[in-house]
Amino acid sequence: MAAITLSHVVKKYGDGFPAVNDVSLDIDDGEFVILVGPSGCGKSTLLRMVVGLEDISDGEISIDGDVVNDKAPRDRKLAMVFQNYALYPHLSVFENIAFPLRLEKGKYPEDEVRRRVEKAAETLELQEHLDRKPANLSGGQRQRVAMGRAIVREARAFLFDEPLSNLDAKLRGQMRTEIARMQRRLGTTTIYVTHDQTEAMTLGDRVAVLKKGVLQQVASPRALYEQP
Ligand code: ADP
Ligand code: ADP
Repeated sequence: MAAITLSHVVKKYGDGFPAVNDVSLDIDDGEFVILVGPSGCGKSTLLRMVVGLEDISDGEISIDGDVVNDKAPRDRKLAMVFQNYALYPHLSVFENIAFPLRLEKGKYPEDEVRRRVEKAAETLELQEHLDRKPANLSGGQRQRVAMGRAIVREARAFLFDEPLSNLDAKLRGQMRTEIARMQRRLGTTTIYVTHDQTEAMTLGDRVAVLKKGVLQQVASPRALYEQP
């Protein structure tokens, strides 16, 4: 069974041309799928529908075989990492990572919060920095704290919306390596939106190409970028 299934998914805003038009795609457990396409082609809309931040107009989205169309975001067990993931400057690294758990008031006892934050910090090699404030971290460490927020929810899958697009080339390269390493350790199913061919090549198991809301092609990065 696929981890995430999109079946004839449609999104219409108002009565205009559909932003996402009849998209069907099966994403396997542990698979890293890259979503590419020109600006305005519906990539963010698609991610937001999967995570539950946007209603779907038609079709079905399933997670582990369960249709989630009507489920609230918190019941989908997904974690979305946005383009501008600002950290809270007045909170320690520990509290920044713990933040999504604290939001669900009373759900996680303190020892569970600690266990999860420490596990996330270990995965991201932030153990030494848990008491520091974001201002005292390097850019790469800050990005890792933002990832920690996704990991700490022990999500079924990650959704990334151009997470590296605002970084300079050096940090982008560094973070690409971090994400690849995190993926090897966690093996979590991921949908990752990017414009960057190098990210698609290094991270993706498959690349899905979206154009004007329609899925044009799904292929391995090699097949897509190395064709004559
Ligand atoms: P991408 O992420 O690929 O740049 P988007 O998913 O943001 O594309 O947008 C797809 C289309 O849907 C665009 O034409 C955009 O203008 C439109 N759109 C996105 N969000 C809204 C909204 N909240 N209301 C109306 N139209 C929207
Ligand atoms: P509310 O009804 O309280 O406004 P929502 O139904 O909009 O809440 O969803 C909030 C829930 O979404 C949170 O409890 C959390 O589980 C989930 N959530 C918050 N941030 C993210 C994220 N980045 N990715 C995925 N799920 C998130």
